[in-house]
Amino acid sequence: MTVHITARRDAASAAWFEGLTEGVLLIRRCDACGHHCRPDAEACTACESRDLRWAETVGTARVVAAVSTPGEAGSATIQALVELAEGPWLHAPVLGAAIAPPPGTALTLTILRPEDGEPFPAFTVSA
Ligand SMILES: [Zn+2]
Repeated sequence: MTVHITARRDAASAAWFEGLTEGVLLIRRCDACGHHCRPDAEACTACESRDLRWAETVGTARVVAAVSTPGEAGSATIQALVELAEGPWLHAPVLGAAIAPPPGTALTLTILRPEDGEPFPAFTVSA
């Protein structure tokens, strides 16, 4: 299966892409209340504090919803909304699955490193 996503870093996303380059998916953690937020959050979604810092995730998630788009020769591209172990939800591809995994399916982070763009997070169904 081929997944082709081209992403480019900017000032706001540079640290996030640097984390992926080093093999870590970063999210935002609130200094005021400890709540975890999406990587693109500018203020805490729990207490509205703007004191957010980068925090490493453990690299596991569960499927909230997934869709499968048929491709060539019986292959499929699967995109999912996933809930990270820390709580935030992200959209990400699920690799290596023949069908869209049902909600609740355990996932493990993998980081894709395209030759022509920035690394980005994807998931595989946990063994
Ligand atoms: Zn907070």
